[in-house]
Amino acid sequence: MVSEHASPLAALGGVDAGGQNVHVAALATALARRGHDVEVFTRRDDASAAQRVTMLPGVDVVHVDAGPPRALPKDDLLVWMPAFAAELVRRWSDPLLAPDVVHAHFWMSGVAALEAGRATGVPVAVTFHALGSVKRRHQGDDDSSPLVRVRLEAALAREADLVVATCTDEVAELVDLVLCDASAGADVASSDPFESLTDDLLAPLRVVPCGVDVEHFCPDGPRALPVPDAARGLRHRLVSVSRLVERKGVDTIVRALPVLEGTELVVVGGGEREDLGRDPEAVRLRALAGDLGVGERVHLVGRVDHADLPAVLRSADAVVATPWYEPFGLVPLEAMACGVPVVGSAVGGLLDTVTPGVTGELVPPRDPAALAAALAPLLADPTLAARYGRAARARVVERYGWDRVAAATEEAFAEVLARRDVAAGPLRHASSGRARR
Ligand code: UDP
Repeated sequence: MVSEHASPLAALGGVDAGGQNVHVAALATALARRGHDVEVFTRRDDASAAQRVTMLPGVDVVHVDAGPPRALPKDDLLVWMPAFAAELVRRWSDPLLAPDVVHAHFWMSGVAALEAGRATGVPVAVTFHALGSVKRRHQGDDDSSPLVRVRLEAALAREADLVVATCTDEVAELVDLVLCDASAGADVASSDPFESLTDDLLAPLRVVPCGVDVEHFCPDGPRALPVPDAARGLRHRLVSVSRLVERKGVDTIVRALPVLEGTELVVVGGGEREDLGRDPEAVRLRALAGDLGVGERVHLVGRVDHADLPAVLRSADAVVATPWYEPFGLVPLEAMACGVPVVGSAVGGLLDTVTPGVTGELVPPRDPAALAAALAPLLADPTLAARYGRAARARVVERYGWDRVAAATEEAFAEVLARRDVAAGPLRHASSGRARR
C-alpha cells in the first residue's frame, strides 16, 4: 500500500489524521490475517522514526524519505511525490521486492504509485478516499488542494488498473469527473464532444466499503461518561466525533441544540483537550454555543484514543454526523457497530451506511431545524432508539466487518492480476506466489 500522508501508526483526530489512517491500518491488518505480506509506504515525517517498523506480523510500515522529515500539511506534499515515486521504483526494480499489486490511498499516493507501477510493471489499484472535485464544489476558494488535483484524479481514474470506490455516491462522482475532464479536453471543433469517450473512460471499478472492527466497536462494554446530570436538567446526550474542521459541520449540531431541551453535546476530536484554546474551529464552536445560549451544554473534549472511543460512543443516546459532504465516514459505522443510532447528513457514504427509519435518520446537510426535527422523536423514545441501535449493529456486522471488506478487496486485486495474466500470456506475473499461504 502507499499512503503518503496517512500513516497507519499516526495518532488520530488531528487536522490531517482521520479515516484514511484507520482504513489503511485495518485493511493491512485484515489482509495480513488472510495470509498476505503487506508493506505500507508512507512519507517520513519524523527524523527519528526507524525506516521500517513492523506493525504486526505480516504488516511493515516503511518510511520513505521524500521532503523534510517533519509533519507537513498534506496539501503541500505533491512536490515531493516524484521523490516518493523514485524510491518505490528503486525498490520494485528488484523483482524479489516488487509487490504483486500496489494499492494507493488518496490521489497523491496514486500519482506516485502509478509512476512507479508504470516503470516496474506493478499493477496499480487506487482508492481516492476523497475527491478534489467534490471538495472544490463545497469549499470553493477555501479549498487549499493544489489546482492540478482534479485533473490528476481524472487521469488516475482512467489509467489505474483498478479503482476501488468506497460508496455508490463516489461512483457517480467519478463518472462526472472523467466526463467533465474529457469534455474539457475534447476537440472543440468536433461536433460530438463525447466522440472519443467510448472506451476506457474509467478504469475497472469495484465498490468496496470501508470496514469497521466489530469486536472493538461493540454494544457490550463500559461507558466512558455517566448518565447526563439530571440535577442540571439534562436527560439526553449527543456525541459527535470528527476532525475539527469546518466541513464536518459540528456547528449544525450546536445550532440544533436550542430546541433540543435537556440535551448535551459532547464533541470529540481536534488536538489534545488542553490545546483546544488554540484550535480555530474549537474557538469558533465555543463562541457559537455561547451566542446561542447553549454553552453550558456543549463540551469539547479534544481527541480521544481510538482504543477508548467505543466507551464514549456507548455513552450517547445518538451519534450525530452532519458533514457538508463525506467521502465515506467511518464514525457513523463505528457508532452503529456500538448499537447507537446515527443521525447524519444525507451525503456521500452515509447514503449507503445509514438506513433512514431503520438504523437512524438522514437529513439535509447544514440544516439545524431538520436535524432537531429528526433527533427529537429519537431522544423522546428510548425504545425506538434501542430498536434503531440493534438494527444498526446487525447491519454493520452483516456488511462492514473487516474480514468481509478484506475478502472483497482481495477479490478485486485477483481480478487485476488475472486480467494482466490474460493480456501478457503465461510467462507474466513472475512475482506471484509471495503470499504467505
Ligand atoms: N478518531 C479517533 N479519535 C478522535 C477523532 C477521530 O479515533 O478523537 C477516528 C474515528 O474513530 C474514525 C476516524 O478517526 O475512525 C475518522 O474517520 P472518518 O471517516 O469519520 O472521517 P475523516 O477524518 O476521514 O474525514
